[in-house]
Amino acid sequence: MAQRLDGLGTTIFAEMSALAARTGAVNLGQGFPDTDGPAEIVDAVVAALRSGTANQYPPGPGIPALRTAIAEHDRRFWGLDHDPDGEILVTAGATEAIAAAVLALVNPGDEVLAFEPWYDSYAATIAMAGGVRVPVTMRAPEFAIDPDELRAAVTPRTRLILLNTPHNPTGRVLSREELTAVAEVAVEHDLLVVSDEVYEHLVFDGEHIPISTLPGMRERTVRISSAGKTFSFTGWKIGWACGPAELVTAVRTAKQFLTYVSGAPFQPAIAMALGLPDSYFTGFRDQLRDRRDQLAGGLRELGFDVVQPAGTYFVTTDVRPLGWTDGVAFCRDLPHRAGVVAIPLGVFYDDPEPGRSLVRWAFCKRPEVLDDALARLRVAF
Ligand code: PMP
Ligand code: GLN
Repeated sequence: MAQRLDGLGTTIFAEMSALAARTGAVNLGQGFPDTDGPAEIVDAVVAALRSGTANQYPPGPGIPALRTAIAEHDRRFWGLDHDPDGEILVTAGATEAIAAAVLALVNPGDEVLAFEPWYDSYAATIAMAGGVRVPVTMRAPEFAIDPDELRAAVTPRTRLILLNTPHNPTGRVLSREELTAVAEVAVEHDLLVVSDEVYEHLVFDGEHIPISTLPGMRERTVRISSAGKTFSFTGWKIGWACGPAELVTAVRTAKQFLTYVSGAPFQPAIAMALGLPDSYFTGFRDQLRDRRDQLAGGLRELGFDVVQPAGTYFVTTDVRPLGWTDGVAFCRDLPHRAGVVAIPLGVFYDDPEPGRSLVRWAFCKRPEVLDDALARLRVAF
């Protein structure tokens, strides 16, 4: 195996989903819904498959209808203005958009600031690009960005800030003040920002603010999102990157040689989905808020220290009140002890210490599944 893959191993999500399958445990680990999104979106894929016009390579940047729909969606919800022709690129999920952006914008030896705990593909992608990951820690229980720690992490080699809000795994939604602090650092040091906003519609408290809407940021930000979370079709892998033409062209150059294109029959369906009325987006969010309250409330009653998430699919808990100190050991034992799977946060840090006793639980599941998991936990603890 090449050195660039040193230490990457198997993703924690695959490991824990396999453990759930092996033990028959309720899987509150990997973040994917257990219910499909709207049937009309599935029908649009079926129609595309049968149309005879959507089964060959789509255009490199994505079909025009989808790029236009992304631009209109981003204008409608966030007041952003990206030209579908040159400033928007369709990718194989947000994962590919992140990888292509980092490969396109980071030179070997460049430093990339990444807030920890991070989404696991960030560390792997930076390593594969030959970049140097420089962690900036978001500390429990607030998981706020400390502007002084951020400033202290900048060096003459810093090239890019990898940002994520709403934030996986903590459920934090970054405030305008925090984003302004990040923007100020980026402008002052002329840094690029790759902003992962896949949970943009899953904000229960507060508001989602794309950093590219802040002064001086549009020209230096690649904004990334994906249809997976917003429409509950995580397996379709339709994502996108938006930003100034110069940056998007660079991302596209890398993307061409990763997958070239993907998901032809899904693209027209997601174009339609992005135009659904506001009631779809708010209704989906309200449903997830109920699930959050159900799982977070149940975990709190069980005695966990619960960090109430303002967004995403996930709730983070500290397991120390239950007598455990190590989240990895807790999660390895949990399927056997309780028949439930969760994800330890320690693996999302450079030095696991600040996240050692933290565990993430996914609530993007049917209420009866969450009840079943909570009932199992009540028997075990
Ligand atoms: N970023 C974050 C923060 C995520 O949680 C995920 C997946 N759950 C992704 C990126 C990847 O998105 P996709 O499935 O569209 O590749
Ligand atoms: N993003 C999902 C999570 O955080 C997992 C996606 C994956 O397995 N790559 O659980």
